[in-house]
Amino acid sequence: MTYLHKDNQGSPISLPVNKVVCIGRNYLDHIQEMNSTVSEAPLLFMKPKAALCHLDEAIQVPTDKGECHNELEVSILLKSPLKNATEAEVLNAIWGVGVGLDLTLRDVQAALKAQGQPWERAKSFDYSAPVSGFVPLGEMEDLNDLHFTLTINGEVRQQGHTAMMLHKIVPLLAHMSEVFTLDSGDVILTGTPKGVGPLLPGDNVDVEFTGYFSIQTKVVGE
Ligand code: ZN
Repeated sequence: MTYLHKDNQGSPISLPVNKVVCIGRNYLDHIQEMNSTVSEAPLLFMKPKAALCHLDEAIQVPTDKGECHNELEVSILLKSPLKNATEAEVLNAIWGVGVGLDLTLRDVQAALKAQGQPWERAKSFDYSAPVSGFVPLGEMEDLNDLHFTLTINGEVRQQGHTAMMLHKIVPLLAHMSEVFTLDSGDVILTGTPKGVGPLLPGDNVDVEFTGYFSIQTKVVGE
């Protein structure tokens, strides 16, 4: 179905659908499980707006390109542009906060990394960013104390806590806005904790954003 930003009650939000900006390697436990190294400057990449879809609809994964991995991350929806922003300006520009998947074709990514090539083929395909509805910022508690959990077929696979981020949400967005302008309707995915693994057609998926909502969905093959 056509993607529109929604709030956590399912009502549409009248903001444009725009790009998705992501950070890699933002939790030490995930860096360790991937045998990656900590990069001092945040590792940034983007997904086009065609990547956005609704997490509460079935998650479509490509089935002919090797493993497609879950990366459950806190997501931010912006309501106004940011360029060279201060942290106060970042807080004023956030519409709300939810969770989303940064779906990743892990075998494709490994081949791209080996060749020193960029990651778009592994991360920026259509429907690679299923996102939840967004909780209005005014209803949120401390952004550095958010917990989220991904359960697959009844087994907990990922548990995240934003206190463990190497680059915390507000300074991260301020930094991103120094690299390129963030726009109204942009979605930011803020990095995955450990527990990435393959999603398979038929998997039952339970996403919990602790204290705010939970979503039950499933995986289907494309
Ligand atoms: Zn990610």
